[in-house]
Amino acid sequence: MKAVAVTPGTPNSVHLTEIAKPDLSEIAGGMGVLVKVLKVGVDATDREINDALYGNAPKGDDFLVIGHESFGIVEAVGENVKRVKPGDYVTATVRRPGGSIYDLIGTNDMTSEEEYYERGINLRHGFLTEYFVDEEEYIVRVPEGLKHLHVLQEPMSCAAKAVFQAFEAQQRMKVWRPQLAFVLGAGQIGLLTTLVLKLRGLEVYTLARGEEPNLKSEIVSGMEASYVSTRETSMKDLVGRVGKPDLIVDATGSSRLAFEAMQHVGHNGVVVWTGITGGDNKVEVPSDNINLEWVLGNKLLLGSVNANRTHFEMGIRDLALGDMMYPGVLEKILTHPVDGLDDYAEMMRLLVEDKDALKVFVNVADE
Ligand code: BGC
Ligand code: ZN
Repeated sequence: MKAVAVTPGTPNSVHLTEIAKPDLSEIAGGMGVLVKVLKVGVDATDREINDALYGNAPKGDDFLVIGHESFGIVEAVGENVKRVKPGDYVTATVRRPGGSIYDLIGTNDMTSEEEYYERGINLRHGFLTEYFVDEEEYIVRVPEGLKHLHVLQEPMSCAAKAVFQAFEAQQRMKVWRPQLAFVLGAGQIGLLTTLVLKLRGLEVYTLARGEEPNLKSEIVSGMEASYVSTRETSMKDLVGRVGKPDLIVDATGSSRLAFEAMQHVGHNGVVVWTGITGGDNKVEVPSDNINLEWVLGNKLLLGSVNANRTHFEMGIRDLALGDMMYPGVLEKILTHPVDGLDDYAEMMRLLVEDKDALKVFVNVADE
């Protein structure tokens, strides 16, 4: 079957290759699920992998099948699989366990080992192909009513985890009722985080570069959050207008903005970083001032990566509620379809060159 792969270490090596169709017998104990791939989303991580800044092939292979945002339909299941059946729509988690205690209890996203295994990213092949098999544990059912939001399940799981982790960590406060949040960046993670926070009842300001009106501002206002163009209003100006937020989630992919956020969060507040910056940029920060303010204000900085099955389930619940609450808004994120694995070059071109491509995804097959 066809697969889209890169040669890790070689920039711009994305290509089409042939791999063997997987089989249920590869998974022990009758716990395998065979999935026919329908759609796969790509994001900045795939771009960095193709730029050879990130990602590794599985041991023994010199190529890595990319794609970690999956949506498919179950074709067959092993005899001991209980949670899904043929015909169900599904997505798959991305990380696979290492050996730490966190991996052993199903929280691979919190592994304490430096080496991590991620399908389509690091040391494990991904989903940009025609079929995949995996253990039932890593397959998450997607309700039929969310079929139109297909590849958003994986990015949503990361947004759901980031917010959930902030609330978990804030249990240190005994009482924490955040009211005001800033989301930095209006890419898929920024927009989905805006949704999660709106559904938790916060007043949300989503900051991005583009001037209004644009598609991102339309999606943000469609979720009853406020879009702020940083060309007109800086983070500092916004604080002057609405006060210091209880929570800032950075999803810009800019380490400068991630650090700038530290200057604006309120007392007892949290800054969550979700961006992954593969480069080596350096910025100057007012370190004395940040140090002082952070100690005097008991502030917390949290990094959040990946998501385990629980976060996928949370994300799916929020997508379902969000789609009811703001009908027709979330699907606007899905801007740039590409038809078929054969068109992988166009997929990468959109990802690299098209600044309006909020979300690029491949229609791999029809049901
Ligand atoms: C993926 C995550 C992954 C992270 C780091 C992101 O693009 O969505 O699942 O953990 O990259 O590799
Ligand atoms: Zn991703």
